Amino acid sequence: MSQGQQENPHCPENQEHKHIGDNEDKYSNIGTAILPKRLCTLDNKKLIKQQLEHPTTRIPEQFQQYYLDYQNKHQRQFLKCVNLIGQLTFLSYFFVDWVLLPDIGMLSGIARLSLVIFALLVNWLAFRYCKNIKVLDSLLPASVAAAAAIWLELLYLSHSPFVSTYLYASIIFILLGNLCVQVSFRNSIFSSLLISAVIFNGVFRLVSVQELILFSLIYAPVLLLSMYISWNNTLNSKRNFLRVLLNDWNYYTLTEMAHTDELTQLYNRRQFLQLAEQNIQQWPKYNLTCLLMFDIDFFKNINDTYGHDVGDEVLRVLADITRREMRHSDVLARFGGEEFIALLPDTTLEDAMNIANRLCRKIESHQICVKDKCFFNFSVSIGVSQLQPNQSDLNLLIKNADIALYQAKKNGRNQVAIYTHE
Ligand code: GH3
Ligand code: MG
Ligand code: MG
Repeated sequence: MSQGQQENPHCPENQEHKHIGDNEDKYSNIGTAILPKRLCTLDNKKLIKQQLEHPTTRIPEQFQQYYLDYQNKHQRQFLKCVNLIGQLTFLSYFFVDWVLLPDIGMLSGIARLSLVIFALLVNWLAFRYCKNIKVLDSLLPASVAAAAAIWLELLYLSHSPFVSTYLYASIIFILLGNLCVQVSFRNSIFSSLLISAVIFNGVFRLVSVQELILFSLIYAPVLLLSMYISWNNTLNSKRNFLRVLLNDWNYYTLTEMAHTDELTQLYNRRQFLQLAEQNIQQWPKYNLTCLLMFDIDFFKNINDTYGHDVGDEVLRVLADITRREMRHSDVLARFGGEEFIALLPDTTLEDAMNIANRLCRKIESHQICVKDKCFFNFSVSIGVSQLQPNQSDLNLLIKNADIALYQAKKNGRNQVAIYTHE
């Protein structure tokens, strides 16, 4: 990985072209992950962190849809319940009407029941068919505005002496309308305007200007407080979501680190053993599987002559060349030190030999350049073993390839040897 590279070197998306045998669905078992692979970049991580620390957190454009999906999954049930409770609360105030406004008690019962039945029907349809969480988030404020309009109309029709006192209960509407908004603060602004317009229109018809001023003085702080709480609720929703994204990002990174060799960006030994074992167990028993084990020749000399840094560069070059020679289904890994391993599923011994020989030729023809002036070549020896049909012993396959590799070294290096029973 070059310095200053923008992509996360451990991000699954960026590994796709690096790992042979990388499986697209490798991360699908995360299950709860929200952050898609293609958005797992260092830039996005920075953006998420910035927004988390920002006093007025915003969801970046590229995460908007994921935010709405996340809220749809997590807030839907709450909104459904609070809508139901809100309707029942509105209905229960019939008893207060009955006591304070006895002249329109019957009318209040009919009006409240009709509105609640209508609202429950709308809610049922909305929560059953609507996938847009912003719409569901604005359902309660909308029904609160309707309820406020109907209730103030009832007050207008009543001749009870309690009307001018009872109308202060309209403050409950603005509280209920705002406190339940969870997803978008914009909903709270619109609903505050709507509910306030409805309430002031009603109160204006019921009381004198002085009383209206007094009402405003009591109403305004409650309006502001409820809007502040709503702003804070939606801010927390956004921050929770961004924290989940950050967790996903860290999970991806740690998983990659646990599976990847840092120097070559190939799988490490642990991941190879796991994937190779899975591969062997999955593969139909009548198919052939081969294994290549390769080791750089006289690598110690390279380190001693040119230094450890150049030795590291040789390891990277070898990984790059080999990666390009492998198919998508092959599992390639750095097995340890200067030893690499590749499982070739569905491959005959002859094909494996051809691949190994081609690799040897490619590697011996590659020149390593040191400080732009001194060039040298290096070579590898490769041992090949084959899993016989109906066998599934990975350890035996590796052991046999190791024996063949030893033979290739013994035969003079820079060559391929096949494991045979003899
Ligand atoms: P042979 O042809 O028999 O394989 O000889 P060799 O010199 O390649 O093998 P040997 O086992 O004697 O030496 C392997 C060397 O690889 C020793 C070790 O320091 C070096 N090595 C192991 N890991 C790394 C690494 O990550 N970077 C570098 N630069 N060297 C490493
Ligand atoms: Mg070795
Ligand atoms: Mg070696």
